[in-house]
Amino acid sequence: MDMQTSLLDRLFAAGHLIDTGVDGLYGRGGAFEDVIARFEALIDAHAPADAKPEVIRFPPGMNKAHFEGSGYMKSFPQLAGTVHSFCGCELDHMNLLQCMAEGEDWTKEQKATDVVLTPAACYPLYPTIARRGPLGEGGGLFDLQSYCFRHEPSKDPARMQLFRMREFVRIGTPDEVMAFRADWMERGQRLIEAVGLDVELDTANDPFFGRAGKMMGNSQREQKLKFELLIPVTSQAKKTACLSFNYHQDHFGETWGLQTSDGAVAHTGCVGFGLERIALALFARHGLETADWPAPVRAALWG
Ligand code: ATP
Ligand code: ZN
Repeated sequence: MDMQTSLLDRLFAAGHLIDTGVDGLYGRGGAFEDVIARFEALIDAHAPADAKPEVIRFPPGMNKAHFEGSGYMKSFPQLAGTVHSFCGCELDHMNLLQCMAEGEDWTKEQKATDVVLTPAACYPLYPTIARRGPLGEGGGLFDLQSYCFRHEPSKDPARMQLFRMREFVRIGTPDEVMAFRADWMERGQRLIEAVGLDVELDTANDPFFGRAGKMMGNSQREQKLKFELLIPVTSQAKKTACLSFNYHQDHFGETWGLQTSDGAVAHTGCVGFGLERIALALFARHGLETADWPAPVRAALWG
């Protein structure tokens, strides 16, 4: 049995994850959720005391028009999930039930709604903030958390289809965004070390689709627009990206018309915590029973 499957099976057996019959779609047990809640509190404790981000929680579905405007389908069509519903008459309903009863595809007549599954916690933010008009002096800082969907079914417990991302997003001048990202690259490493995990910082790229996407990924890497904190989850050799630090330059600023207080196009950056991946790294490293975790780790999380 490979390591990924064995960790997944052990998590199922311990009740930390609950099998739904679909790879990457799991229920979570109480102890697993407690670790995530505790880790989120630790994120808050490691954030700069004077930063005072605006807290916003969007649901895991976003406005389809905002999704279209973001350009997500140009870069990651393979990962997106759309919400479709039945919009027919009674006859259509009868046909649908018959299709279902015969084991045929009943989803073909489902129609797209105005909702798309959120692919990253920060996507609904940019059009929302742009609608407010130019940012105030010093730009903006936001605290987000959302379930996110990515169509990448896998037996690797660290690659889920629905998972939570906690994010801080900075909108402002290039200097403000770069300083924010550099600060969180430091803080993120200290935070992970505080819970007894090994970390490694590396440059990274997003999984852009297709041949042109390969070039975009290379360019993202060369320009150091994305860094990740890698932590062992299912393998010591092939570590998993658990935090990412992204500088989007003026991409979202141009796309949505985000402006700084002096009317310039705003730059944006975000730090994203993969909450399930971090919880999995903790269980993989310290064991499936949280009561037995090393004292310093317990102290950091439960105080
Ligand atoms: P990967 O390269 O592993 O696919 P990514 O670069 O696409 O990840 P981001 O878009 O930077 O990931 O997402 C922010 C964070 O969300 C990641 O650092 C990771 O911790 C988490 N994450 C991304 N994809 C998944 C997934 N399929 N399951 C669980 N967590 C994920
Ligand atoms: Zn983001």
